[in-house]
Amino acid sequence: MCDINSDNVNVETEMVYKTKILPGSLCMKCKTQKPTAIVRVNDSLCRSCLLTYTTHKFRSTLGKSKLVKANDRVLLVASGSQSSTALLHLVKEALGEGAHKRLRFSPGVVFIDESVTLQSKTECELGIQDIKKLVDDMGYPFHCVPIYQNFHSADTDADGVNEINKSSFSQAFAQLSTLTATVHFLSVIRMSVIVATARKHCYTKVMIGDTASDLSVTLLCNILQGNGNAIPFEIGVADKRYSDIVIIRPLREFSSKEVALYNRLNHLRFTVVPNILTKKASNSCIQRQTEQFVNSLQAGFPSTVNTIFRTGDKLCLDQEFTFSPCLLCQRPKDRIEELDTGLNCKKIETEVEQDKRNDVIEQQHKEMEVKEKMESLSGEEENLQIDRLSLSDVKSKLCYGCNITLKEMGEKYELLPQFILKTIQQMKNRARMKNEIKDFLL
Ligand SMILES: [Zn+2]
Ligand SMILES: [Zn+2]
Repeated sequence: MCDINSDNVNVETEMVYKTKILPGSLCMKCKTQKPTAIVRVNDSLCRSCLLTYTTHKFRSTLGKSKLVKANDRVLLVASGSQSSTALLHLVKEALGEGAHKRLRFSPGVVFIDESVTLQSKTECELGIQDIKKLVDDMGYPFHCVPIYQNFHSADTDADGVNEINKSSFSQAFAQLSTLTATVHFLSVIRMSVIVATARKHCYTKVMIGDTASDLSVTLLCNILQGNGNAIPFEIGVADKRYSDIVIIRPLREFSSKEVALYNRLNHLRFTVVPNILTKKASNSCIQRQTEQFVNSLQAGFPSTVNTIFRTGDKLCLDQEFTFSPCLLCQRPKDRIEELDTGLNCKKIETEVEQDKRNDVIEQQHKEMEVKEKMESLSGEEENLQIDRLSLSDVKSKLCYGCNITLKEMGEKYELLPQFILKTIQQMKNRARMKNEIKDFLL
């Protein structure tokens, strides 16, 4: 039963807004030290207890999922943000000699250089130097990869950093008509480059420093942009959309405030590397507007991020859900579309079976031709290669969100990364080949 009265409302209001440490109060954990900061809604902790609390949070997120095993090669994604700086430090501490229950994986660090998307590159280059120095001091391998790597050349084994790739990427980038589409496009390409780097250097896990605050914004953005079915992949502790690489988010239980406190208490210096959203107005795109909305609510109501995040956590895919991924972002394509396609397939199958029953003689005649047809198939393969892709071929292989981005590119699908177009071309060739011989199959 609800018993809301004026007294209760006052108590609640007081709790929500109590952000200052009261004079003479003690750390709520050890009850001996003077508190340094307030975490969650109203828990004041001393420096030592706060560091124990954050380290425990990091270790328990990794421990619960049991994703990282001894000797795994793990690629840490550095971006220069507060959260990526905290991630590097937490990993370093967890792997250190004196760490309690020391972790034993082999880390490397990747930084995706997006300076090609910016007008002024100097600040970005300085930021990269700072990050490189930080990683070198830690003694971890550092991979600085431009976002246009292998954009045009589908051969991922080669270096992939050349003028052709750069100009192909710049051409596609210049076509994007809105900042919302640009941010989406960059996030998709960034992830594909991170995964390609992991594969190239034999890493099997990738760690990203997304906090609960970041993920709350991601969650709302996905809903706003019609990508609701991607939420379990986007905010879960382990993202298994790629068959060979697992994306892990060990900071997903941290708020951005906790990350900032962790960095401050450890005297960590972080370098802000400018990106496409730097100095952009809050109403310039959906992602920025959502961030502003969540942050302004969080400032007045400290449970906002937690409420959004926990609600999103309850959204999950059922176990039997198998999906064909979008070739650009690897997230599931629209399920309704798949079911629709499935129904059409069944209809076609029934018609084919009926034909077989009604036209036995013709079928036998065709069977005699199978051998000849199969023999000539290799010769036809050359013709299949030049069977050019159409816009509808590409659109049918992308999810709703990526289709919107393609539309914002003026539907110039030929500007998409070459490895995607190559895969779609192969799929088309295979489908055509199957169609050619379907009448001859028993
Ligand atoms: Zn304490
Ligand atoms: Zn997609």
